[in-house]
Amino acid sequence: MAEPVFVIPAPELPSLAVAGTVARFPLRRIFCVGRNYAEHAREMGHDPNAEPPFFFTKPGDAVVESGAVIAYPPQTRDLHHEAELVVAIGVGGADISVAAALDHVWGYAAGNDLTRRDLQAAAKAARRPWDMAKGFDQSAVVGALHRAAGGAVPQGRIRCLVDGEIRQDADLAEMIWPVAGIIAYLSGLVTLQPGDLIMTGTPAGVGPIAQGQTCVVEIDGLSPASVTVR
Ligand code: MN
Repeated sequence: MAEPVFVIPAPELPSLAVAGTVARFPLRRIFCVGRNYAEHAREMGHDPNAEPPFFFTKPGDAVVESGAVIAYPPQTRDLHHEAELVVAIGVGGADISVAAALDHVWGYAAGNDLTRRDLQAAAKAARRPWDMAKGFDQSAVVGALHRAAGGAVPQGRIRCLVDGEIRQDADLAEMIWPVAGIIAYLSGLVTLQPGDLIMTGTPAGVGPIAQGQTCVVEIDGLSPASVTVR
């Protein structure tokens, strides 16, 4: 088949650094899980046992790599951090079983689901979508990806530090929906594709990042995801 001729320059394919190699992981979509740690669900005013997982998205090109310096986002006065384990899908599929789910994983990274909390609160109050609260430019900070043989899920602590102060500190085992369950459930809603990322939800302790501050997400065994807001 002939190469298509585009009427404008084709957009650059977003991609992520991979730990230990110069080769990169090409990105497609970013799916995010809401309320996946009980204490965070409670801090946002919800019963953690009441609901199946739900999802929102960010554009693939909202990714910011660790170490980036970003502008304070427009139209907000309440930029929040959300420390999250990020799953990278290497093998696509639909209606994936829980038992087979981890075979679809390429690897994992630490991530920060940056959120315009004031816009999210307004959207919730008006029963409107969260897109502009969650899917804005440079809203997905993701550290270098680590290859995971057999999709083995990282274990241990997930922490978020703002200028060195611990804001979030939890164990990955506290997730309500584990990685395999998230993949199985999400793949019943959409066909997952290689290059998709899943941000798996944040523990309690979300809060603001002010101008001039540096926010670092650390997960045991993974590279950190750091961002500075100027
Ligand atoms: Mn989140």
